[in-house]
Amino acid sequence: MEIFSNILDIKGFRVIHAEVDDTTLSLSLKCETEHGICPHCGVASQQVRVWSPRLVRDLPISGKACYLAFETRYCDCATCHTTFAEPLDFVEAKRDDTIRYEIAIFEQVRQTTATYVAEREDLTDKGVTRIFLRQAKARLPEQPFLGGKKLGIDEIAERKGRKAYDLILYHLETGKPLDVLENRTQAELMAYFDRLPAEMTRNIEEVCIDMWRPDATAVTEKLSHATLVTDRFHVMKAVNQDLKSLKNTLKHELPDDAKACHYPLLKNEPDLNDTQQEILDKVYEASPQPKEAHQLKEEFREIFDTNYTVEQGGQALQGWIGNAEKAGLFSEAVKTIKNWFDSIVNYFLHRTTNGPAEGINNKIKVIKRMAYGFRNFANFRLRIVAAFL
Ligand SMILES: [Zn+2]
Repeated sequence: MEIFSNILDIKGFRVIHAEVDDTTLSLSLKCETEHGICPHCGVASQQVRVWSPRLVRDLPISGKACYLAFETRYCDCATCHTTFAEPLDFVEAKRDDTIRYEIAIFEQVRQTTATYVAEREDLTDKGVTRIFLRQAKARLPEQPFLGGKKLGIDEIAERKGRKAYDLILYHLETGKPLDVLENRTQAELMAYFDRLPAEMTRNIEEVCIDMWRPDATAVTEKLSHATLVTDRFHVMKAVNQDLKSLKNTLKHELPDDAKACHYPLLKNEPDLNDTQQEILDKVYEASPQPKEAHQLKEEFREIFDTNYTVEQGGQALQGWIGNAEKAGLFSEAVKTIKNWFDSIVNYFLHRTTNGPAEGINNKIKVIKRMAYGFRNFANFRLRIVAAFL
C-alpha cells in the first residue's frame, strides 16, 4: 500500500486498502494526524466529537477513475467553544472532488467542451459545468484590462433562444476578451465604463467598434480621451453587401457558367484560384456594371492595404466615394462611409482593427456547443472570459 500512498502524496493520510476493477480504482485512506486544527483560532484539538465518512474523486490513475474513501473528524474547540470540521488541504468542505481533480477538469473544459469532458470522465454536464464555473470564478483577474491601450467592441455570436445580441469587449493587444455584456444598449455600455476603475480607463487610447451608433456614443461620452476607430472589416462588409445585391439584381444577364460568381466577386482578388478567376473573367465579359463594381470593391480594399497617413487615407477614401457616386454604384455603402468617415479614417493612425478578436469568435462558437449553463448569463460570461485566461 505504501506505493499508493506515495503516488497520492496526500499529507496526513496513508492508503490502507485498494480495490481495482475494469474502470475504477478505490482507495481507502487513514488519517495519520493526531489532532484537528481549529480553522477559527488555529489551536489543536484532540476532542473528536465524531468521525464522518467521505468519498471523493481524485485524478485518474492509469486511466482508471480514482476514488478516495476516508474519515474526517469533527472536533470540539475549547477556545472557541464550537465544533469544527477539520479543514483538509486536498479537498474543500462539501465537495465530491479533490482540488487537483477540479483543476484538471477546469483545464480540460477550457481546451474542449464541458460535454466532451463529461463523457470522458463519466460525469454529468451539469457537474462539469459547476466545477468549471467555480474554478473560473476563483481565477478571474480583478482588473483584467489594466495597462491595455486598445479596446475592441463587437456583438457576440447570438445565443440560443435570445433575439438580442450580447456585447463583447476585447483586449486587442492580447486578443483576449475583457468582458461580456448581456445587452447591447448604450445605457449598459455606459454603465460598464462607469464601473471600470479610472486607472484602467485612462490608459485606453483607441476603441475599435462596428458601425453601431449606441456603442459609438457610449465611447465618446465615457472615454472621450480615446480615439474611435471603425473596424475596417465591417466597412468592407458594407461594400461587399452592395456588391452582392447588385449581383443578385443582374443575375439574369450573366451566362449560366458565370452564375456561381458569389465568391469570385467577393473574395479578395489576389486570393482567387484559377476556376474562380475564370468565372470572374466571364462576368467581366458579360456585363459592364458588375465589372466596374468589382473593380471599385478591389480599389476600396487596396486603400486599406497601403501605408497611407490619416490625411492620405482620407483623400483616397473621398476619391473612391466620388468614383462610386459617378458610377451610380455602392449607394448604401457610400452613405455608411460618409456617416462614419472620421472614425473610418482613424484606421490609418495605427491600423487598429478587431481582427485579433477573430480567433475569439471562433472559440465562442465551440463554447456555444456546450449544452448546459447558457440560459444563465452570468455563467455564459464566465465561461467565455475563463476560456481565455
Ligand atoms: Zn478554535
